[in-house]
Amino acid sequence: MVSVLWRESWLKPLSIYDIETKVCKFCKKTLEDQDFVTSCEFCDIGVMHDHCANSHILDKHKDEVEKKIELHKDKRLHDYQ
Ligand SMILES: [Zn+2]
Ligand SMILES: [Zn+2]
Repeated sequence: MVSVLWRESWLKPLSIYDIETKVCKFCKKTLEDQDFVTSCEFCDIGVMHDHCANSHILDKHKDEVEKKIELHKDKRLHDYQ
């Protein structure tokens, strides 16, 4: 079965002063105006580009992601019972 990973879809505008960094913590590139950014829910690496976070999470937190998917499957089973 294919599992997709849903990120909350609303956008929250923040200034670089709010996020206290000028660079992406993953690729180290300077954040540009209207870049899509997010943080990692599994560690406190800091703010990253959205696409960098995908790479980071799949690279560093594969186990956590798989656990989460398993957890979700269990929940859904209970809903049907
Ligand atoms: Zn980046
Ligand atoms: Zn992380």
